Amino acid sequence: MRIVDVLLALLYPPTCAGCRRELNRAGPPRFCGTCLRDLGCIRDACLQCGEPGAEPRCNRCASRPPPFRRTFACFSYRAGGVLADAIARWKYGGDPEVGVALERHFAEHTAARALCYDLVVPVPLHTSKLRGRGFNQAALLARALTRCAPCAGQFAPQVLVRSRGQVQARLGRRARGRNAADTFAARKSVPERSVLLVDDILTSGATAGSCCRALLASGASVVDVAVLARTPRRERLT
Ligand SMILES: [Zn+2]
Ligand SMILES: [Zn+2]
Repeated sequence: MRIVDVLLALLYPPTCAGCRRELNRAGPPRFCGTCLRDLGCIRDACLQCGEPGAEPRCNRCASRPPPFRRTFACFSYRAGGVLADAIARWKYGGDPEVGVALERHFAEHTAARALCYDLVVPVPLHTSKLRGRGFNQAALLARALTRCAPCAGQFAPQVLVRSRGQVQARLGRRARGRNAADTFAARKSVPERSVLLVDDILTSGATAGSCCRALLASGASVVDVAVLARTPRRERLT
């Protein structure tokens, strides 16, 4: 470690990206052990939609499968948890440290599970929202993954375009489905390309489904999905 980094670590001790408690060693932003446990790493999920605890395939996917083939989800999303707080600080508060920590966990977790693809495509943000926020969190996650694991595929942020956007979080589940239905389009054809679609949170799956259909209509051979967080169905019902 460079001496300047040692001095900086002494002056500004590294803190957990979740609870802000002081960490006992320097390094890139990350979560402490307690917060990592609270983040709820997903194991044994439905292979197709990532629903936690429904391995190998949930009932919903067995009866009405989404257009994507597989979903890789890092963490289980629940309101009020460390993850919800961290994502809110990242997206709406512009906290770059928590963003770096989340991107790193996503990249390492996904690289260990996902396959190799021709393209890694982030779900686009509407232009007006991108202007307001200054970054697209899905693009940051996708880029972090391709940097951590180049074999994951080529970072391709220009493939999809979002034609009109409403704030999904403010809409009910039905309206969310309608809203996402005609929102995305592929800007160019992706003949016979395998695609890993990346987003921050998968809730109803409507956004991922809409992006996936646009990619398949443009020639993609297969689309899998990788997300930082998955909202379990039982959580959505409450
Ligand atoms: Zn912590
Ligand atoms: Zn499923």
